[in-house]
Amino acid sequence: MRTIIEPFKIKMIEPIKMTTRQQRQAILQKAGYNPFLILAEDVLIDLLTDSGTSAMSSEQWAAMMRGDESYAGAKSFVRFESVVKSLTDLRHIIPTHQGRAAERILFSAIGGPGTVIPSNTHFDTTRANIEHSGATATDLIDPRNTDPVVKGDFKGNMDVPALERLIERVGSDRIPLVMMTITNNATGGQPVSMGNLKAVHQVCQRHGIPMFIDAARFAENAWFIKQREPGYGQCSLAEIAHEAFSLAQGVTMSCKKDALVNIGGFLALNDDDLAMKCRSALILTEGFPTYGGLAGRDLEAIAQGLVEILDEDYMHYRIRSVEFLGERLLQAGVPIFEPPGGHAIYLDARRFLPHIPPQRFPGQALMAELYIEGGVRTCEIGSVMFGRYDPDGKFVGAANELVRLAIPRRVYTQSHIEYVVEVVVGVFERREAIRGLKFEYEAPVLRHFMSTFAPE
Ligand SMILES: *Cc1c(COP(=O)(O)O)cnc(C)c1O
Repeated sequence: MRTIIEPFKIKMIEPIKMTTRQQRQAILQKAGYNPFLILAEDVLIDLLTDSGTSAMSSEQWAAMMRGDESYAGAKSFVRFESVVKSLTDLRHIIPTHQGRAAERILFSAIGGPGTVIPSNTHFDTTRANIEHSGATATDLIDPRNTDPVVKGDFKGNMDVPALERLIERVGSDRIPLVMMTITNNATGGQPVSMGNLKAVHQVCQRHGIPMFIDAARFAENAWFIKQREPGYGQCSLAEIAHEAFSLAQGVTMSCKKDALVNIGGFLALNDDDLAMKCRSALILTEGFPTYGGLAGRDLEAIAQGLVEILDEDYMHYRIRSVEFLGERLLQAGVPIFEPPGGHAIYLDARRFLPHIPPQRFPGQALMAELYIEGGVRTCEIGSVMFGRYDPDGKFVGAANELVRLAIPRRVYTQSHIEYVVEVVVGVFERREAIRGLKFEYEAPVLRHFMSTFAPE
């Protein structure tokens, strides 16, 4: 088989500033060993997130020039609405400035004290918006699927018997909707099968509960279904996406992922009353329902991106490039969350640095070394992000100590990925000499964004 090439060529470039190991040591120290406090200019390969970091196509830039900036009823809204409608088959299409705005509006309308919102795994902003409304957010995932070494094709699936037990226990009238996150970002970017979506849909129907989809990575999820689920090999990504959305009564989406844009989101619904409530909330904080906090040009770029993401040559290259990174690391003996997810590789810092205990933050220490070694910026998803203290003030570590290498869409080439492999392997070879970190300043909330650290 021939090399899978990037199915695009480069028209415009952004130079990468080269730095020395010594310079990076100083930069990291100044940033308090927090990747969010490093300036982007000081990063060689930025794998902090795949959110809003996509490179747009020439067609998207051309569409932006056609942006109609009329306050109400802009042509750009009409195009956006028609693309999202034909993708989701939902009646009410409400643009928002990003995914979390759609979540806030939705849950302020149907969440609230006493209600419970189950998901395969809620993304952190979804959980935060549910809890902000006074509702309870519940993750229903088989614990084997959060184990980094357990193999599986669809480790993002919801635990359906657990959903039935939850409905039995709290009553369907207290569950305003069930949220399916595809792919499952908080669980290693793992996909959800069509069989699982259908099974959840059936349970929901039986109990009169609407099923919603958090569709941030719906197209990557469709690719995994095509590759791994019997009966879907001959279907197009568009057909698979359609079938998934046909099971949903509503969709929230962060367009910063699979719509290949730098900002934007939407909420799509069938329920007329709920849509009316959501539009009223939208006007209060986001804007008029035909722009929802976005410029007309943003709506154009989203509409075009939603078409391009379903191109199979693109998706083949995308998923293969992430998988290649995972394979190379496994070959070198580097422990990762298996199998590789759609948008990221997660290093397993617990096995990478077994001599560093959770309270000395092995993930944060590994992130720091990747930056020093090669200027690669990553993000800890472990005890810095999710660690807490019990009522006696005793430290409780996170379930997993991971470091996420999120791959921006259409931004880096194969040689960039090969460079990342070299950097990770370079750190792996000297892993025994790596020491942990301790807090210098511990931020009271969302610690990973603002805290600073120092070597122990
Ligand atoms: C990014 C993300 C969100 C939130 O979207 P923003 O555009 O960052 O507000 C919600 N759900 C999932 C699964 C995401 O990955």
